[in-house]
Amino acid sequence: MVKPHILLVTYPGQGHINPTLQFAKRLINNGVSVTYATSKFAVRRMNTTSVPDGLSFAAFTDDYLHGFKPGDDIQHYMAELKRLGSETLSELILTSANEGKRFTCVVYSVLLPWVGKVAAAAEIPSVLIWTQPATIFDIYYYYFNGYGDFIRNNVDDPSFLVKFPGLPELASRDLPSFFIPSNQYEFALPSLEEQMEILDEQTKPKVLVNTFDALEPEALKAIDKYNLVGIGPLIPSAFLDGKDPSDTYFGGDLFNSLKDYFEWLNSKPKSSVIYVSFGSISDLSKPQMEEIARGLLDSGRPFLWVIRENQDEEKQKEEDKLSCKEELKRQGKIVPWCSQVEVLSHPSVGCFVTHCGWNSTLESLTSGVPLVAFPQWTDQWTNAKLVADVWKTGVRVSNFNKEGIVEADEIKRCLELLMGNEERGIEMKSNAKKWKELARDAAKEGGSSNKNIKKFADEIAKHCQ
Ligand code: UDP
Repeated sequence: MVKPHILLVTYPGQGHINPTLQFAKRLINNGVSVTYATSKFAVRRMNTTSVPDGLSFAAFTDDYLHGFKPGDDIQHYMAELKRLGSETLSELILTSANEGKRFTCVVYSVLLPWVGKVAAAAEIPSVLIWTQPATIFDIYYYYFNGYGDFIRNNVDDPSFLVKFPGLPELASRDLPSFFIPSNQYEFALPSLEEQMEILDEQTKPKVLVNTFDALEPEALKAIDKYNLVGIGPLIPSAFLDGKDPSDTYFGGDLFNSLKDYFEWLNSKPKSSVIYVSFGSISDLSKPQMEEIARGLLDSGRPFLWVIRENQDEEKQKEEDKLSCKEELKRQGKIVPWCSQVEVLSHPSVGCFVTHCGWNSTLESLTSGVPLVAFPQWTDQWTNAKLVADVWKTGVRVSNFNKEGIVEADEIKRCLELLMGNEERGIEMKSNAKKWKELARDAAKEGGSSNKNIKKFADEIAKHCQ
């Protein structure tokens, strides 16, 4: 029998690459071979040290199209990604078929709706992998199906509340940032709308979601016309089901890390360290960085803070936005990047100050680490709401000042809640442990996500018969 061969196409951002690479590994374990395609820039930067048999890489753009950085003309970038990507993926599909390695199915991540069209033109079935929570998928669906005007007309009202079927009641500040008309990232809406239209051309399309049944039971089932299927959490096996202890690394880092922080972490008492990271894209202002620094210093606790090295040389280096660098280095450790899943599972880590990117949120849940939710843009606002009010594994920063900055006192308050002995904090820590177990249950043999991935691989295999 011919082995099923999937073309897995991923938007070239760290938050898309990590879960999709992990999904590729799961598919390979289920007898599928995978060609993993992302931008040439990302393929070149990716730190893929151990590549399992059955996984190969391809690029779908030209050399000149670099990764998106905050401040770039993102609309132009998205248009070029589509133009070049459509051409090169069509060629890749053809070449692969001519070499006797025809793709059985194309799986593609968010923000690349044109991939579905390329697959259809080549008469290959395609499936979307949604790298955000099911709740977010539903919110976008409702936005494009009846609620758009209502949201646009009311989103500026701080007392606005909306109740979508199957989701918790949401205020303006709980909605994805793309709905706020003044937001510079409105670029995503046309792409998401196109995505919904493509799905609507199919009958009850399957959408693979990086979540698990117990985490979002209602959101996964809320919209009858789609078949949302939980396949998460997509994080390395060593930190999840433990089935493959050698799988400790996502395998696609776009940033360099020294790993010199483990010795430092090892020297700290259990649950004593505050881990701080705002992911791979968010660019904090100098005043906000200063307030975080002051909050950390005032907490008197050790911290590991990821401050990325600037990829854009014209911009001020993140670390140079801090006036108290020396003081910070005496109390904590600043690193340009780290292996976050390894850090979160380190016994010294007591809480995670995060922008609530979906991967960071899931990684934290899976490690049983409570969160200080400090959202910046896109889905992070909704993820923060879910963390604070639905799963109750963390506290969300509030009290923004007139300039939109969260001040040191508020940050310190949140840290004390999670690191101290307040009853509410203890409850959040115990909830975090509960979710850790449920995430593992979903991933292990016979668990909901494990079964869903197996089922998907079997369905793909049927196309080869
Ligand atoms: N990450 C990491 N090291 C770091 C910071 C982040 O490995 O120092 C990883 C993190 O584990 C996660 C991804 O980068 O898998 C960030 O994705 P997320 O969705 O949380 O945020 P984004 O970067 O997309 O805003």
